[in-house]
Amino acid sequence: MQNTHNYIYKCLKEYLIVMKEEKKIIIPTIKINKNDPLVRKTLLEFYKNTCFYCPEEVNKSNLQVEHIISQNTKPDEVERLIKIVDLPLDFKLDSFYNLVPCHKKCNIRKGPTNFPDGANIFFFSQTKKNYSKIIQLYERNKKRDYLYELQIVKECLSKSPSSIADILGSLKSVAKLKCVK
Ligand SMILES: [Zn+2]
Repeated sequence: MQNTHNYIYKCLKEYLIVMKEEKKIIIPTIKINKNDPLVRKTLLEFYKNTCFYCPEEVNKSNLQVEHIISQNTKPDEVERLIKIVDLPLDFKLDSFYNLVPCHKKCNIRKGPTNFPDGANIFFFSQTKKNYSKIIQLYERNKKRDYLYELQIVKECLSKSPSSIADILGSLKSVAKLKCVK
């Protein structure tokens, strides 16, 4: 039995190595919410507080999370861009492929229209290259956030709360604080 397990494990490992070498491993595209404080935090951290379009600094207070391909793009046009830019088939407008940190002025300059194809090819070459790294950072931040919330619950429990509502109350106040940040 053990031998069979080992054999299957060995085969799987080899298969994964081959797939990786051929760059066929596809990370599923995760849908994210651009207003989620964790998404904003991850974007700022990953892009080192720099606007995606210009070299200027962005911070928590002036950060705009922008869609490279506009949110209002018709599905047919999104399909065309997926082919032209060579995006994954499960590409989503609300994903780290398409959401980048930028300034208000850089955001306004573009308006509701999309960039020319050449510019899109260039911009997406960056986000495609970064995708697995930014997802890793996002997952790490999510875990940290979860541990932080657990800590709050633990602290609350140590003060002998009278009800579950008390615990939820302290968690809610933390959530509110995070949105303000
Ligand atoms: Zn800018």
